[in-house]
Amino acid sequence: MAKILDGRIVQAEIKQKLERICRNLKCSPHLAIIQVGARPESNLYIERKKKFGEELGVKVTHVQYSETITERKLISEITNFNNNPRVHGIIVQIPLPKKLMVTRILNAVTAAKDVDGLSAVNLQSAWQNQTGGFRPATARGVLTLLNYYEIPLAGREVVVIGRSALVGKPIALACLNAGATVTICHRGTRNLNTVTRRADILIVAAGSPGLITQKSVRAGQVIIDVGINVLPMGKLSAKIGQRKVVGDVVFEKVAPIVKAISPVPGGVGPLTIASLFENLFAAARLL
Ligand code: NAD
Repeated sequence: MAKILDGRIVQAEIKQKLERICRNLKCSPHLAIIQVGARPESNLYIERKKKFGEELGVKVTHVQYSETITERKLISEITNFNNNPRVHGIIVQIPLPKKLMVTRILNAVTAAKDVDGLSAVNLQSAWQNQTGGFRPATARGVLTLLNYYEIPLAGREVVVIGRSALVGKPIALACLNAGATVTICHRGTRNLNTVTRRADILIVAAGSPGLITQKSVRAGQVIIDVGINVLPMGKLSAKIGQRKVVGDVVFEKVAPIVKAISPVPGGVGPLTIASLFENLFAAARLL
């Protein structure tokens, strides 16, 4: 059976470190979360971020706008947060409704408060492998998880499934910058299982439950499941609004084969949140 790469333990350690900073410096960093609409996945992510922040003693302001908001109005709301000296970090919860141009909205967040690391300035700094700037929280979370469990990237063959600008590409770039040889797969990739079986470290960020099964893996691999898919639990429980969260990897089929695997929930997700708050503390000049 594979070693479980438990993100909750790592999150707890980061949380303690941040709590100590808050206590010793009697500070209160302030995060603004901007949401448009009310997608169930987004609600889930935001609830977790608010809970983590509030437990740390960080101020979290969550503003939720209707899907009918115009791009101009949303950018003007972001600008107000940019100009507010009491706000240290701003995140725009994605995905956004299709009529809004996501890059324009993300670029409206000033780089110094862009704790999700998704504005052009921070993405360019990652692309150029510069020090400083903010790295996207999910990519930072994946690297933190691998680092904690002493899984080196340098010289390893990494396969990332998912090429989104916000998740797959930043993860692939972070691995490349850490010295890995990286292949990026997507919906157009042929013979996906042949490519995934080649990897030393397989990182799956597709948003496709059931994508990675026993046929996709081999012994000795490390599997990082970034996918978060919120599914109804069944007819009866769906009625009362219960949901279950699964990744992209069929854990019970894959775990008996590989060397190490991150579960969902409890793997990368907690570290994405912790990384976001590390970025916030850095934005408030506390880290
Ligand atoms: P997206 O839909 O924008 O991109 C998905 C990518 O996966 C695309 O490049 C697509 O080509 C690829 N893909 C999808 N199905 C595929 C298949 N069958 N075969 C090969 N490639 C396939 O999604 P996203 O925003 O990049 O998010 C990806 C997943 O990561 C989602 O489940 C999301 O909820 C999750 N996520 C998790 C965290 C976390 O902290 N764990 C953070 C952000 C996003």
